[in-house]
Amino acid sequence: MSQFSFNRTKLQSMANVELAAFKQRTQKSAALLERGARSMPKGVPMSWMYGLNFHPTIYVERGKGPEFFDADHNRYLDFNVVDLAVTMGFDNPHVREAMRKAMEVGPHFLLPVKEAIDVAEELAHRTGVPYWQFTMTATGANTEVIRIARTITKRSKVMVFEGHYHGHLDDTMMENSKSGVRPYVLGLPKGVEKGIEIIPFNDLTAAEAVLKKGEIALVLTEPAMSNCTLVKPEPGYIEALYKLAHQYGSLLCLDEAHDFSFAYGGLKAAWNLPCDFMVLGKGLGTGIPFALYGMSGAINEFVDAHTQIDLGHPGIAAGGTTYANTLAVFAAKAALENVLTPENYKRTEALGRHFAAGLQGIFDELGLPWLAQHLGPRVGFCLFPALPKNGKEAYRSIDVDWITVRKLFMANRGVWDAVATAGPQVSFAHSSEHIDEYIGKARDLLRQLVA
Ligand code: PMP
Repeated sequence: MSQFSFNRTKLQSMANVELAAFKQRTQKSAALLERGARSMPKGVPMSWMYGLNFHPTIYVERGKGPEFFDADHNRYLDFNVVDLAVTMGFDNPHVREAMRKAMEVGPHFLLPVKEAIDVAEELAHRTGVPYWQFTMTATGANTEVIRIARTITKRSKVMVFEGHYHGHLDDTMMENSKSGVRPYVLGLPKGVEKGIEIIPFNDLTAAEAVLKKGEIALVLTEPAMSNCTLVKPEPGYIEALYKLAHQYGSLLCLDEAHDFSFAYGGLKAAWNLPCDFMVLGKGLGTGIPFALYGMSGAINEFVDAHTQIDLGHPGIAAGGTTYANTLAVFAAKAALENVLTPENYKRTEALGRHFAAGLQGIFDELGLPWLAQHLGPRVGFCLFPALPKNGKEAYRSIDVDWITVRKLFMANRGVWDAVATAGPQVSFAHSSEHIDEYIGKARDLLRQLVA
């Protein structure tokens, strides 16, 4: 099947109509944004709240289950679920009760509460990764993993994959360009690009060519790339990558900040993948800030022997004042015990299949040579007749004009779509009616687009 070309004029005129409607229905948000701009850049407390949207930012009033309501009382059924940080929905009763109990105990002590052991033991049981350390963000977890890998290997460089995202850390916010590796953001230290190698995913020859130089401390990868739409590993790819990494003296980390929501125990457990480190984050979906990293027995032995002790003992730089606080630990424990259960993962996986079939049905009905992407609860739009094998291929489906119209069209009809680099995600709070609502509205949009 040949490739589909958007009618750019039509996309632009649809965007104009939808933007006018959006502005009309979000006037209270616009007023708050204007007021916010007098004390915060772009009128928001954190830049992503502006930058991730393809329309003016809305201010939120409250959330309920998988929906939230803006300052103008418009309802949005959320398929972004805070980039997977709130996959439990906005008012999960188990998380709410855990917060109440945590505040009774006390929010934090800079000393452990016994429930931290419950969380570490449970994750060890599910993932097969035996030792854990807690942080607040996956960015923080990846930062510490890189430091540990550097200390162990006595090397500096990190290897990542085109289309990667591992958080806002200086070591990884770079991309390949015609003139070599360059930061894709401002503010990184000069020369930072010398510390990274960025290669295509699913390409073992490229990986070996870099690894054999003996400079890589850590290979940092998601088991399935989830920040450039979706790229699945070819069978045996991660296993072979791990083997190559070890052959040339490097360590490997599976960053499952997103992928942990795709399968019980993460893709590590679902696909029985090997690793030295595993990173989890996004509050495990509770919305309460929390992340952590797991380590093999051998790494734990090293970390145990090189832990920083105050005054005079320079150990590995790790930790933060609010890390492993009671709120985060209680939220994660409640999530693991009550929501992240095998049955619930089975349910979201089935809903994901239903979702992908629904999207594919629309593409087929309208003669679009597109493919529905699908992994567990994650779906997406591949605008080509073959699924991507690496980040470069995947990025071709991130068409800004199309995503702008999709975001606006859906928002005006009560659906909050995924960020441009991800895809709609089934949350633990969604039902099949919610999925059908998305599919119905996506059908209306695509019918209008191809008419
Ligand atoms: N790793 C991956 C794979 C992610 O997707 C993200 C966030 N999108 C991060 C790390 C960073 O997470 P955080 O913003 O919570 O630090």
